Amino acid sequence: MGGKKERDERQKEVGKSRIPLDPFSVRWTEKYHETLEKYWSRLPNFVGTFIASVAVFIMGSTIRGEWLHILVHFLRAFKQGDNNTTTTTTIPDALNSTSTFLGIDLASYKLQGVGYYWLAASTVSYTFYFGIGGFLHWYYYVRQRDRPEEWKCQPNKFLPPDLERHEIILGSFSLFLGSTISAVISCYIMNGGTTTIYYDVHEYGWLWYFLSWPVVFVWQDYLTYWHHRAYHMPFLYKHFHKLHHKYKQPTAFSVTAIHPIEFLHIQAVIVSPMVLFPVHWTVFVVILSYLYYHGIIDHSGINFKAHWWQPWQPDCIFHDNHHQYFHVNFGFNCELWDKIHGTYRQKNKVYREDIFYGKGKEMTECSKEELKKALQETESENVLAYRGKMHGDQIMAVKEMLT
Ligand SMILES: [Zn+2]
Ligand SMILES: [Zn+2]
Repeated sequence: MGGKKERDERQKEVGKSRIPLDPFSVRWTEKYHETLEKYWSRLPNFVGTFIASVAVFIMGSTIRGEWLHILVHFLRAFKQGDNNTTTTTTIPDALNSTSTFLGIDLASYKLQGVGYYWLAASTVSYTFYFGIGGFLHWYYYVRQRDRPEEWKCQPNKFLPPDLERHEIILGSFSLFLGSTISAVISCYIMNGGTTTIYYDVHEYGWLWYFLSWPVVFVWQDYLTYWHHRAYHMPFLYKHFHKLHHKYKQPTAFSVTAIHPIEFLHIQAVIVSPMVLFPVHWTVFVVILSYLYYHGIIDHSGINFKAHWWQPWQPDCIFHDNHHQYFHVNFGFNCELWDKIHGTYRQKNKVYREDIFYGKGKEMTECSKEELKKALQETESENVLAYRGKMHGDQIMAVKEMLT
């Protein structure tokens, strides 16, 4: 009946205008697509790309409440410069007004006013998570959805809507945890609490200042490698880390979508230098921002490449491979650890969720069926996400075994 066709069309239209404003589903970005596109298309290309990169950076350094750390260190550094004698910093009276919580005297733990810090940390975290995460989603996943082969690491596969929702709910919960931790630490520092962070370079000299950059970076990155590798052991994987691996095609929202226990471990590793060895505040703040920025980039699913000045840094496809092939490429900001320990993805090896320990399975031990699946998986990747011959070699290796 002609009437039915008309009705279907009408329902489609109604459906479009009724895209829900559900914050836990990124579909809301589609609702504003036309308006955003109208303004965006007036900008020259390079300005658009620049804004997108700045957006990733801001999201990276703000979503877990770390911006508050950064601000607090700035304030303390300048305060120190002003009076050059005391490390105790006073906070405005308004912030001092709340000094007990559940009967605990907050001032005795240097936590007076912590509620205000928490409010500030979580407001900014959520605003940027949804604002910038939403923007990135729109910029690539909505605006360029019809040409994924130009930008996406796995161009034929998109994370299904139920998993997009899942990662945003879980990611948001981690934001709550992250903001709480950041608020407590920042408040403690601002109230004059003791950490091993220092503010005057001369305290430990220039030699240590320059040495501490690689020391802090390697300390955090190498520990995170082992931490991540341990979470890929069968027991820890099944009970905790598998949650983060529900996203075979990760997006910017996946970065904080981790089991809360694991999230706390990661945070502890990342902030550990501030209680273990002397770190100048600039070193701590810059490295922290770097880690968060790359957390977003590496989960974006977009074929971002490392810059010339980061020879240690893998391209985005490195961690995207980790999500696609599970137990391989455990590192984050140095591929060296995987190369040293034999957990770097190799041609002639097959990797899957049921092949544990990061060493893969020799192709010579695989059945035809397993090889065919491996070929399909490899061919679904985007050659543009790679440099050099790695992708082609991988495909050749499986094809040779199949003939
Ligand atoms: Zn993992
Ligand atoms: Zn991941």
